[in-house]
Amino acid sequence: MKRTILYHLVQTLGGIALTDWNQTSQETKRVLAPHEPPPLEVVNAQGSSEFFLICEHAGNRIPESLGDMGLSEEDRQRHIAWDIGARAVALELSKMLDAPLYMQRYSRLVCDCNRRPDVPSFAPEKSEATIVPANQNLSAADREARAEEIFWPFHNAVMEALDARDAAGRTTKLVTVHSFTPVFHGEKRPWEIGVLFNRDRDFAPRIYEWLTTNTDRVIGSNEPYAVGDDSDYAIPVHGEKRGIPCVEFEIRNDLIADPANAPRWAGYLRDAVTAVTAVL
Ligand SMILES: [Zn+2]
Repeated sequence: MKRTILYHLVQTLGGIALTDWNQTSQETKRVLAPHEPPPLEVVNAQGSSEFFLICEHAGNRIPESLGDMGLSEEDRQRHIAWDIGARAVALELSKMLDAPLYMQRYSRLVCDCNRRPDVPSFAPEKSEATIVPANQNLSAADREARAEEIFWPFHNAVMEALDARDAAGRTTKLVTVHSFTPVFHGEKRPWEIGVLFNRDRDFAPRIYEWLTTNTDRVIGSNEPYAVGDDSDYAIPVHGEKRGIPCVEFEIRNDLIADPANAPRWAGYLRDAVTAVTAVL
């Protein structure tokens, strides 16, 4: 009874102040309201490029049903919620290459679209040192609802687009665009661009070499982290499983927090992927 009353209050008041984050209700509620935007935002779908771009952490929207997730406005703007600056760089790169770009609008704290839905960090209870109240003791049904309404629509659309290119006999190279925080758990990170890969041992390492040789930027090879099956989704599934060349870029977010800097950093990525492609 108490829960029913609370539930109605939450519905009435928009779920902001009164949500009981610790309830373990098995009721399946819709995550996204009908008037909220879909997770997927596509730009330049018909782009002529062989490069196909993905930006999974492009947005920090939180569905109205989750209120503020129990987080301060400041926390909802931090790197824990999204990849600061990545959207602007991805948009520039899409324009420069005439490449299709698939972006995801909702915060990775709601569901991380670069994680399999079965790993804990898909809906993290804690991100860096910040507890995420709305993600404590999530039921399987709650996780599934987020996956069904956000994760799968995004990745199914990517899959269909890649299948269609394949069926049309088009070459595809997959490029994902991310950003990372300059300081993590108190450690300063020196790299400006990270080139991340795992099973791709040709395209991505060549990109690292090219950037190291042809720019004066600080480039990391699998820094600040490497691609893995538990810590990534797009590269292992849409790239490696298909056997297509693939690379994940990470740009330090203090360099791209101002969107005015996006063209410069997108330019490095464009120069690298096109130079390497020319000699592959
Ligand atoms: Zn990211």
